[in-house]
Amino acid sequence: MEVAGSVNTQQRITYDLSLIQGKQDSSSALEHSLGALRTMAERRRENCLTHPVCFALMSIKCVHLILYIILVHLSVDSFTYLGNSLSSSNSLDKEISTRIAKANASYGRLQKRVWCDRGLSIETKCAVYKAVVLSALLYGCESWTLYRRHIKLLDQFHQRCLRRIMNIKWFNKVTNVKVLQKAKTQSIDTLLTLSQLRWSGHLVRMSDDRLPKQLFYSELSEGHRLRGRPTLRFKATLKKSLQNCRIAMAHWETTASNRRVWKQLTRKGAAAYEQAKRRAHAEKRAATNAGTESRGSSIPCHVCGRICASEFGLRSHLRVHR
Ligand SMILES: [Zn+2]
Repeated sequence: MEVAGSVNTQQRITYDLSLIQGKQDSSSALEHSLGALRTMAERRRENCLTHPVCFALMSIKCVHLILYIILVHLSVDSFTYLGNSLSSSNSLDKEISTRIAKANASYGRLQKRVWCDRGLSIETKCAVYKAVVLSALLYGCESWTLYRRHIKLLDQFHQRCLRRIMNIKWFNKVTNVKVLQKAKTQSIDTLLTLSQLRWSGHLVRMSDDRLPKQLFYSELSEGHRLRGRPTLRFKATLKKSLQNCRIAMAHWETTASNRRVWKQLTRKGAAAYEQAKRRAHAEKRAATNAGTESRGSSIPCHVCGRICASEFGLRSHLRVHR
């Protein structure tokens, strides 16, 4: 990839960015610059990345909103930017399926060399999984605004991979929590919470003239909401992440301005959140098991005294005595 070094390119970057921020009127230069980007986006060209606009944005991780503006501007349905699928509807459905496909491909490529190698320990395999597959799966997750259905899909993939690595079959009846404990990793929900809080900390500490920070604190001056349930926003996701990690909403920005304190706090919070989730899961499971046993012992057959697990079971058993 070409590195823009000349003064001319630098000027174009500044010019294009000022256009994105709406500081200049449309002119022939704007038409030309955006026309070139549209052609590259449509033809899925690799040199899309060397376009001044894209190049300037490369240092910015919060690309979703900026590129959303470009997409609307260019009237392209979707295109891949730095490996992220961006759609004009701003939906993450395609992005999640692409991420799962890419992670699955990188998992498949290591099948012979790593997963099937009996000389490697489970610990090494899990470390490789975290470094290669998991990072491909959660690439760019810092700016995602996920619904429960997306997290479910990601979690299913995470479990499927870990179970295959550790050779746990369905009939072994190992719970998801035990799989995570064995692999010494956390659930997707916790990993997402942690990386979003880490990114929010970076945003808070950025200087005020940086685009991601401006976008983070900005809001639309006009427009109206559609009827029905409002679409989920990053703000709501962040609020939930803070609640999960038991961080007070009121002064989280003050805490985040200290990098070291913020890191410790978020890590501790995420670990506590994971523990609480596991505890709740264990309690629920114990309650279900206890419920089955207690109900089972209380329904004996009045003819032969056989103990049935449920009323339904008793009814079907009673057919024997007809
Ligand atoms: Zn009976």
